Amino acid sequence: MRYDVVVAGGGVAGVAAAVGAARAGASACVIESGGSLGGTATQALVTPFMKWVSGGKPVVAGVFAVVLKRLVESGGADEREPAIFEPELLKVVLLEMCEEAGVDVLFNARVVGAEVEAGGLKAVLASTKRGALRVEGLSFVDATGDADLAALAGAPVAAGRESDGLVQPVTLMFKVAGIDFERFAEYLERHPEEAAPWVSVEHVRRAVGEGRPFSFAGLYRLVAETRAEGEFPEIPGIGYIAPLAAFPREGYAVFNNTRVCEVDPLDPRQLARATLEAYRQALAIVRFLKKRVPGFERCYLAQLGCRIGVRESRRIVGEYVLKLEDLVSCVEFPDAIARGCYAVDVHPLKPGEKGLWIPVPEGKSYTIPYRSLVPLKVDRLLAAGRCISAEHAALGAVRVMPTAMATGQAAGVAAALSAASGVPPRRLSAEEVRRELVKQGAML
Ligand SMILES: Cc1cc2nc3c(=O)[nH]c(=O)nc-3n(C[C@H](O)[C@H](O)[C@H](O)COP(=O)(O)OP(=O)(O)OC[C@H]3O[C@@H](n4cnc5c(N)ncnc54)[C@H](O)[C@@H]3O)c2cc1C
Repeated sequence: MRYDVVVAGGGVAGVAAAVGAARAGASACVIESGGSLGGTATQALVTPFMKWVSGGKPVVAGVFAVVLKRLVESGGADEREPAIFEPELLKVVLLEMCEEAGVDVLFNARVVGAEVEAGGLKAVLASTKRGALRVEGLSFVDATGDADLAALAGAPVAAGRESDGLVQPVTLMFKVAGIDFERFAEYLERHPEEAAPWVSVEHVRRAVGEGRPFSFAGLYRLVAETRAEGEFPEIPGIGYIAPLAAFPREGYAVFNNTRVCEVDPLDPRQLARATLEAYRQALAIVRFLKKRVPGFERCYLAQLGCRIGVRESRRIVGEYVLKLEDLVSCVEFPDAIARGCYAVDVHPLKPGEKGLWIPVPEGKSYTIPYRSLVPLKVDRLLAAGRCISAEHAALGAVRVMPTAMATGQAAGVAAALSAASGVPPRRLSAEEVRRELVKQGAML
């Protein structure tokens, strides 16, 4: 098999890369180890899309904007609150978009090997039911989230916090159905102090009345009381309930409430242990909801994420390492290929530690330079999504889905231009990449 652009990993970044490459005129494929596209968003049930609008203006568009539109059209999101989407429909939207762009998708195919010739990546080997599959390419995008391809090709990689290698905690998302949101909203109106400071009870009330999705966090007192009675699990840093995607019309919500610290997501055994721990946390939370929270009396666990959500693992070390300071001071890089406006958001790495939350002022955004997609040492390879070259803390911001799609589309476009011209990504003109991205509707 041979393509101009080979993308390893079919998460949101990988899909944006493949579609971006195809729109730039390349033949492209996505090699995905699972059986659906969307990665963390679909397999780990992560919704909503975090912040991409600053001061009322979007800072990410391109393929991401098409996904949003298609989600609304397919009933997978509500145009009044498009950030909160239904992961099952995202699977359909992404696969259809690949088909329409002429991208070949390979499922149940895991990239397990890399052939490097004269310093440049030449082919990948994927493990499939038919045995090893060799896929040649003129350029490659590592969108595995874990920088698998870069590591296999011998490019320098890094993991976790610079001081001790610890990564952000893993979280198993879960879906609870059978919720009476009217009763829940009435309870909140009586106890507005139970809502997190950033939650407007009035907004929740209106969303429930109009059947519109909303995000919620709170119930501090109920959690504290239940914990005092020994009936709420000890979860590091979790003293609240967070149905981040609540769908009142359908009567269900997806919870971002479990947390397991000090796990190496690349270690299969540790991952299984953490998953079991998170299952137990989820079941205990559902028991709490049923017993203590008005509106949840008849609720039930409808779905556990197919896999635990990994916020951070391995990343490439690139021509430029994006710094926390670059984001905080909203640096305008001359070779910017993507923008973001989500806060620096690092959850506590171990029990007793504090996390990091540094929001971007409204109306501002930061940029991501092309050089942070280009790994050192190995040619014909780019990275996208949550494995680009960034400091641990900076990754805490650029990992979110809209930004991951923006870096994905940029990596795909660069890979296509490199394949067409024979100029390796390291020497490619960022200006040329930017021009094609603008043509494709990206916001720079
Ligand atoms: C609990 C949690 C909550 C979050 N909350 C939000 C939120 O509310 N909003 C937001 O915008 N972001 C959120 N994020 C961040 C965001 O979901 C991820 O960072 C983003 O989805 C990463 O996308 P990606 O495509 O780079 O990687 P991934 O989603 O990890 O996709 C990588 C894909 O590659 C595949 N793959 C891996 N290795 C291989 C291989 N060797 N061969 C072939 N395929 C491979 C995987 O199966 C997967 O499909 C959250 C993350 C977590 C874990």
